[in-house]
Amino acid sequence: MKFRTRAIHVGSEPDSTGAVVPPIYLATTYVQPGPGDWGAFDYSRSGSPSRSRVEKAIANLEDAAGSLAFSSGMAATHCAMGLLESGDHIVAGCDIYGGTYRLLHKICNRNRIDVTLVHADNAANIAAAIRPETKMVWVETIGNPLMSVPDFQAIARITREANVLFAVDSTFVPPSIFRPLQAGADIVMHSATKYFGGHSDCLAGALSAKTPELHQRLYFIQNATGAVLGGLECHLLHRGIKTMELRVREQSKSALLIAQWLEKHPRVRRVLFPGLPSHPHHLRAKQYFGEQFGAMVSFDIDGDIDAAKRVCKGTKIFGLAVSCGAVESLIEQPATMSHASYDPAARAKAGITDSLVRIAVGLEDPEDLIEDLNHALSQI
Ligand SMILES: *Cc1c(COP(=O)(O)O)cnc(C)c1O
Repeated sequence: MKFRTRAIHVGSEPDSTGAVVPPIYLATTYVQPGPGDWGAFDYSRSGSPSRSRVEKAIANLEDAAGSLAFSSGMAATHCAMGLLESGDHIVAGCDIYGGTYRLLHKICNRNRIDVTLVHADNAANIAAAIRPETKMVWVETIGNPLMSVPDFQAIARITREANVLFAVDSTFVPPSIFRPLQAGADIVMHSATKYFGGHSDCLAGALSAKTPELHQRLYFIQNATGAVLGGLECHLLHRGIKTMELRVREQSKSALLIAQWLEKHPRVRRVLFPGLPSHPHHLRAKQYFGEQFGAMVSFDIDGDIDAAKRVCKGTKIFGLAVSCGAVESLIEQPATMSHASYDPAARAKAGITDSLVRIAVGLEDPEDLIEDLNHALSQI
């Protein structure tokens, strides 16, 4: 079956009542057949019918051996980092999500896990940073906020040879566009808060593993640490997943239109969107993503940090907020918002300028969005 059909039906099979929408299980504990004789579910941190259903759906859509649903994207990332031990080393992209940067530099380092950040768009940089203690390579499918695209197959060859886990935060590129496990990744992480949920009303995360063994190791950490997704959120997430392909297709189309329009605007210095032929990784993005490039666009305005602030405050439809992937369009300034947790040197290394503005294109009519941006850009 095709993606859209599977998104609607896998994990949503009717139960004995015939309900076309599975019931939401809120029970925290389950009555057992006998002492030491465990039923399918025992305690809801360890598993629940609602979570099993949405995890089944995600695993199917990611071509994974198994998936796990978490209470947030960061909980999922933290669980994946739980595979690392004191003394281990991780190589990560230098333009990763601000929260991941913070987790690596302020939490993982407490356990003496060493981090090296590299420009991950060149796989040779990753190969050069790998040491005997390196246990994981972590990249984003599209770097944030500069929209760089790594060469997944080249990285997979490097990590396989070095016996290092290859993990991908694919939040910006949902599985209707690209499935990193097929390109050689071992683990895929999603902030399901974004495209999966799609309506800005459900904080969630997901990990998907290539092998049953890796899925079991991650499940052990998830159950031991406990940041699981609750029953209500499992339902919201599952509902969002059913329309993900449609939403992402339309949002990607609008984002391309807007990026093309921005590129022609006299007060815009450069537009970063992998769907534009001017983007340095356009051909690679086409190779991996086909005709859809997601709905995140960054651009440098012709002005200083205050002019960029005025643009962000000058829209009426785009909400001034971090996050992305939902029906409503958002605008933000990476230097003071999504990437404020970077130290200034790291921001400079990642090319995050003060005049950079990032938009997350939603599902509104693209003509209205362009008019809104046109008005905001007149504030420079
Ligand atoms: C939002 C986001 C996260 C963190 O997810 P939460 O659900 O907010 O915890 C991680 N990576 C990327 C790329 C994100 O956009």
